[in-house]
Amino acid sequence: MHARSVQAQTKVADLTADQTKADREVASVRARRDRDQTRLDSGQVTNPKDLQNIQHEIVALDRRIASLEDDELEVMEELEGAQSELAVATDALASLDARIADELAGLEVATAELDASAEALRAERGPTVERVSEPLLQLYAKVRESHGGVGAAALRHKRCEGCRLEINGADLREIAATPSDQVLRCPECNRILVRTGESGL
Ligand SMILES: [Zn+2]
Repeated sequence: MHARSVQAQTKVADLTADQTKADREVASVRARRDRDQTRLDSGQVTNPKDLQNIQHEIVALDRRIASLEDDELEVMEELEGAQSELAVATDALASLDARIADELAGLEVATAELDASAEALRAERGPTVERVSEPLLQLYAKVRESHGGVGAAALRHKRCEGCRLEINGADLREIAATPSDQVLRCPECNRILVRTGESGL
């Protein structure tokens, strides 16, 4: 996209230079023709041979001017085409830039939101960690590392919320009989299992 814009810019610059050159050429030939015409009109040239030469030159210069003007017109048309190509490329580039800016702004907002929620979670974790014994904390860290970042899960409606599997009746009876201060592990995924009021025991 950028390459296309640079290409169009180069073409416009080249054709603008061509147009300036053509303008200058036409102006210079026209000036010479005007000089001839002035000499002819002044009546100072009386020699018939000289007069004829001037007249011939004027005819030749008129032809040259017409041909140069044709060339000039061609360059102008080409320049117009290149200018509209450049405008299209510039527009496309601008809208691409705008889209990138939008995406970056969105990304910045999302990053700020994630930072804020991570900060809130860290703040929440602090007081919770203080209530947990050191051996349990170590066990939690170990299980979390080997279980995709989730070291402990709630037991809710007879189901471990870590592995989402339902605990069978025999295991449930065993869990129900275990003292509440003893750490439980999910018989399916081995995560630390936390009993809740809705465990279904
Ligand atoms: Zn489980």
